[in-house]
Amino acid sequence: MQKRISRVIAITVTVAVVIFGLAAFAVSFTIYTGEAEDTLKAIAIMYSDDYEHTAEEIHQRLSTALDYEIRVTEIASDGTVLYDSSASITENHLNRKEVREAFETGIGQDTRSSSTLGEITFYCAVRHGDEVLRFARQRTSILSVALGLISIMLLVGGIIVIVSVATSVVISQKLTKPFADIVKQLDILNNPENKITVDAEYEELQPIIDTIESLRHKLRRYIQKLKDAEQIRAEFSANVSHELKTPLTTIKGFGEMLENGLITDSEDVKKYGGTIYRESTRLLSLINDIIRLSEIEENDVTVNPEVDLLEIANAAADSLADKAENNSVSITVQGERTFAHANQMYIGELFANLIDNAIKYNKQGGSVIVSVTKSDGNAVISVKDTGIGIPDDSKERIFERFYRVDKSHSRAIGGTGLGLSIVKHIVNYHKGRIELESTLGVGTEITVYLPM
Ligand code: ADP
Repeated sequence: MQKRISRVIAITVTVAVVIFGLAAFAVSFTIYTGEAEDTLKAIAIMYSDDYEHTAEEIHQRLSTALDYEIRVTEIASDGTVLYDSSASITENHLNRKEVREAFETGIGQDTRSSSTLGEITFYCAVRHGDEVLRFARQRTSILSVALGLISIMLLVGGIIVIVSVATSVVISQKLTKPFADIVKQLDILNNPENKITVDAEYEELQPIIDTIESLRHKLRRYIQKLKDAEQIRAEFSANVSHELKTPLTTIKGFGEMLENGLITDSEDVKKYGGTIYRESTRLLSLINDIIRLSEIEENDVTVNPEVDLLEIANAAADSLADKAENNSVSITVQGERTFAHANQMYIGELFANLIDNAIKYNKQGGSVIVSVTKSDGNAVISVKDTGIGIPDDSKERIFERFYRVDKSHSRAIGGTGLGLSIVKHIVNYHKGRIELESTLGVGTEITVYLPM
């Protein structure tokens, strides 16, 4: 860019200097020509009534006074040349235009070019008694004037070009500097927080800087998101391995003991067999949950416009009725038929997970109220229990994968720590939001808002 600016300025200035030089030369040459003619005429008129000096004397006077040659010719009325300062001419001069005019009107003028080098001669003749005095001056050719001036023009032109090129280099450096500054400040990794700044005098660049800033901001957020996602993935892998290992170790241990005949008592066989069964079930639900979670993350399901949330709530409650009864917990489903733009299976899972938790973390004789309503263009799903509640410092975290308030309790009742994480994913998938209200020892209410 800098080179380009310098080049353009240099070329422009050079062309301008050349054009200006030629124009100045043409103008001054025209002026000089006119002046030369006028001077010759003035001299001719001045000597038209000088009878004291001979033509030769007049020529001598002019030669000493002027530094250019003025040829003087004295012509008799019949055209005979009586005197000529430059050569002895014998030719009759009556047919020369200026001479004829001078005899007729008193003064005559002509301009004739001599063959070589484009030189021309001005003639001015005046009547002088019975004779004619003719003065002639040769105009220097345009070429020789140009040649005389060329060294000065080259010198001046050269200086102008050099000065302008130097100036253009400075200017273009100044112009390109803010861009270089911006580029220097662009390094996002080394310079993540600093705002890009340029001198106030380059205010025209502000919109560009603003755009860059906003892009940089987006990019930073994007990078942060990628980092977070990578961290979550790494943590998840570690957690999954750990969670899978625990039941498998138990199963393996008891299996080995049974195989080696270390457990013989029929009561013990029943007891350890039961443990193996429970741990396998847990393992299975863990694997199911993990699969479910990754399916939801892939976001590859169909969404139906008319999904009846109340119907799904009833179905989910029915399928958990036995579990509720076993836990001496009552379930009530209430509300109005509400249709939402949603995925039927996901919503079923959402209800199942919330109701399942409301049963699991309830108290003997407790209750669960599931309700479906509408509010402000949202379908509102609420699952409320009279259970153990959630401590304040866990409220933020229960939606994290594998997070459990009481790990051993959750394990004992078959929890995986993934249920609410699945719920959160389903809600996000439907662009909804979750609210949690819980008091320790009193109960918990989880409310989900889904846009209709
Ligand atoms: P889990 O499989 O352990 O139930 P979730 O992700 O469903 O996993 O829940 C995470 C944790 O949140 C649970 O371990 C439990 O401690 C707590 N929790 C969830 N729902 C309730 C509830 N209704 N009442 C009290 N605690 C709950």
